[in-house]
Amino acid sequence: MNRLIVLVIISLFYTQAWAQRQLIYCGQLIDVELGRVQKNMTLVVEGDKIVAINSGFSAPGKDDRVIDLKGKTVMPGLMDMHVHIESQSSPNSQVQRYTLNPADIAYDAQVYAERTLMAGFTTVRDLGGTGVNVSLRNAINAGKVLGPRIYTAEKTIATTGGHGDPTNGGKAELMGDPGPKEGVVNSYDEARKAIRQRYKNGADVIKITATGGVLSVAKDGQGPQFQMDELKGIVQTAREYGFVTAAHAHGDEGMYRAVEAGINSIEHGTFMSERTMDLMIEKGTYYVPTISAGKFVVEKAQIPGYFPPVVVPKALEVGPQIQDTFAKAYRKGVKIAFGTDAGVFPHGENGKEFVYMVEAGMSPMETIQSATKTAAELLRIYDTVGSLSVGKLADIVAVEGDPIKDISVMTRVSFVMKGGQIVKQ
Ligand SMILES: [Zn+2]
Repeated sequence: MNRLIVLVIISLFYTQAWAQRQLIYCGQLIDVELGRVQKNMTLVVEGDKIVAINSGFSAPGKDDRVIDLKGKTVMPGLMDMHVHIESQSSPNSQVQRYTLNPADIAYDAQVYAERTLMAGFTTVRDLGGTGVNVSLRNAINAGKVLGPRIYTAEKTIATTGGHGDPTNGGKAELMGDPGPKEGVVNSYDEARKAIRQRYKNGADVIKITATGGVLSVAKDGQGPQFQMDELKGIVQTAREYGFVTAAHAHGDEGMYRAVEAGINSIEHGTFMSERTMDLMIEKGTYYVPTISAGKFVVEKAQIPGYFPPVVVPKALEVGPQIQDTFAKAYRKGVKIAFGTDAGVFPHGENGKEFVYMVEAGMSPMETIQSATKTAAELLRIYDTVGSLSVGKLADIVAVEGDPIKDISVMTRVSFVMKGGQIVKQ
């Protein structure tokens, strides 16, 4: 008997100390699973998880905390599948590769991470940087600094002189011959080694540059840059470590090869043919459009000196095409996971992508699903995030007004909770 009373007292103490319940009153609640909006709902959060979802506004218990979002639309934390959290492009970008120390990059990255979280993005996939991204992820997970949950590729994997070779455009003595350790590969064996090195360095996902790119200091923005054996070395090894793989691609040939090799997502996808779209549908490959990056580089290419001369024609050719390709791929039924390429443009402006997607014909509900459910499925973490469901992490955001009627409200997220903690209200 005495023992029972003690146990009851102990359990009461722990419930109060560690798991004060938070009742979130939602005027509108977006159910991404069923694609519907529910009115007047209560989300019950205990610790870092959602423990109940009730109709109406539940009466609070004595120690419950009430968060009143009756005037807002509440939805799962947003997820951006393509960011570069360490950097932000500027006319100095080329020089900065040779002047910034890892500590400088880390201070910048922390600011960008916080801006991203405040814009409502509670999870991001970071598709390549210097390696500081791994430390930033760890610091955020340890609660030392504010930022989204980061799934990072650490360094991009490229071929010699390809988009993502970290020494492109340097003077000869600084270029050297970077190998798999730095993410530069030229054979099946090197590809395999580069994946194992990413595993060793603490990466969560793999990113390759299947074709040329816009912002690299190199002539070709579209040609294929990996051969089939190298792609197989990437995909087969990545599979063994459980890595989700992403391929940057503008030109169709490199894109097709990457899909054929079994890559999980195509990034940008600028000159994607119907043939590639069909293969993506067949293989279940995701498309991450990054329309925002396309719009931004076209705008900046008009400003003399903003980009190195070799970049300008590529920006003007690739930029305007992405939104049209997105529209075609969407209509055809390719799975679309939300991604922006933030870092090419200022971090925190990720929400503009919603507007561009709706402009191109996707419904507002589908854009929100692509930035929650679909993104979580791509990252294989839909069992813990990506929808407001009992048992999942309490990653919750809200906007004023109704995004289904006016998608631009997604650029002004006014409430952010990550893992049960309010970070913006
Ligand atoms: Zn990118």
